[in-house]
Amino acid sequence: MNGCVQTAILGLLIAAPFLGLETAAAEKPNVVIIFCDDLGYGDLACFGHPTIATPNLDRMAREGQKWTNFYAAAPVCTPSRAALMTGRLPIRNGMCSATRRVLFPDSAGGLPKEEVTIADALRAAGYATACVGKWHLGHLPEYLPTEQGFDSYFGIPYSNDMDRVAESPKGRAAFLHPRPEYWNVPLVRGKEIIERPANQHMLTRRYTEEAVNFIKACREKPFFLYLAHSMPHVPLFASEDFNGKSLRGLFGDVIEEIDWSVGEVLGALGDLGLAEKTLVLFTSDNGPWLIFDQHGGSAGLLREGKGSTWEGGMREPTIFWWPGRIPPGVVRELGATLDMLPTCAKLCKAPLPDDLVLDGYDISPALLGTGPSPRKEMFFYRDTQLYAVRRGPFKAHFTTRSAYGADKAETHDPPLLYQLEHDPSEKCDVAAKHPEIVAELRQLAKSHQKTVVPVRSQLDEKLIDIRQDLSKRRQE
Ligand code: MG
Repeated sequence: MNGCVQTAILGLLIAAPFLGLETAAAEKPNVVIIFCDDLGYGDLACFGHPTIATPNLDRMAREGQKWTNFYAAAPVCTPSRAALMTGRLPIRNGMCSATRRVLFPDSAGGLPKEEVTIADALRAAGYATACVGKWHLGHLPEYLPTEQGFDSYFGIPYSNDMDRVAESPKGRAAFLHPRPEYWNVPLVRGKEIIERPANQHMLTRRYTEEAVNFIKACREKPFFLYLAHSMPHVPLFASEDFNGKSLRGLFGDVIEEIDWSVGEVLGALGDLGLAEKTLVLFTSDNGPWLIFDQHGGSAGLLREGKGSTWEGGMREPTIFWWPGRIPPGVVRELGATLDMLPTCAKLCKAPLPDDLVLDGYDISPALLGTGPSPRKEMFFYRDTQLYAVRRGPFKAHFTTRSAYGADKAETHDPPLLYQLEHDPSEKCDVAAKHPEIVAELRQLAKSHQKTVVPVRSQLDEKLIDIRQDLSKRRQE
């Protein structure tokens, strides 16, 4: 049964005694989060790319708000996605690890059930919820989106470069001339695998069709759509209509297809008369994967990329759109994906968990133009370790390390200090000039760390270890 229809029936049963509240429910906005994978700060025309054409995103930015200081909560996929969904730093719920950076097909863990996702919160407020695209918060049945607040799921449960087949060309060669059969990734509907290997050329198009169909099916009631593109994470694939069309090679083709997809979603909302009832966010999970040369994106003027706690790893090209509700413009205040749960809860009149430490803020005043963003600081974790903190324009790096190099972590005492408004590329260390700011940021890091209670990592557990352990126990 279609997830939306299912929820509608459930909703009717639950809401029967409260039909008088229908008018209040009608004021609740729909929410669409379009989440890219490994998109860099400099990869959109409206964020300065000189050759990639993104007319739909440019229009979205013109009509909506372009945020220039908006962060993902981690520089790699799994922890970043966990933070978006829960409003909590991954260190609080075990969605990071000192040894494995993300979940893999041999992982046994996933987002713990006691976490409250945006989908959980909005479903409790009567929303239909759909997850389309990459999940990467646990691929075992008990961790899939339909167990985490979503009525339906269609997509790839982890990264599109996993499940590499042994016969594929060795090393980088498979990525430079990618073919779908080199990666045996499953395409899942609900909990069933419906295609394997997924035809990755068609992913962006199929995700888009699924998203638009969901919007059409839910036009009469509030909905939450999480559309998480698998691209532009390598291996890169575009459909025939986009292959070879952009001036920026295959990477540009992929971005231009995502831009087309944004146009389809916004177009569907407009056609159905839902534009003024729908908040749309476009952003990404982490920065560009620079080690893949021309197959990776660009962080523009920001330093480094995916995997690092320099700005290029976590600051994302971000656009909010809600015609008639949010005043168009450029917002230079701080925001983060962590803020989406509290913000959605406020705007959608949904309950927030009261027994969990939240790291997100309700940024609706900044969105609606009624006040400043309450976010004044940002914590930059690499895996389980706090590497850097930002407050206002200043960012202190206590530890640095190249994103994927063989170098070891380097600690800095005093920390490196950058004034990001003057120096977004993090080139000029001004620690010696501002000892009082260094002291303040040290204190900020210390008091934050006091709030962190160690928990078991979900990323450390492997299926193979569990199986070996079971067979050992059977033999004993
Ligand atoms: Mg990613």
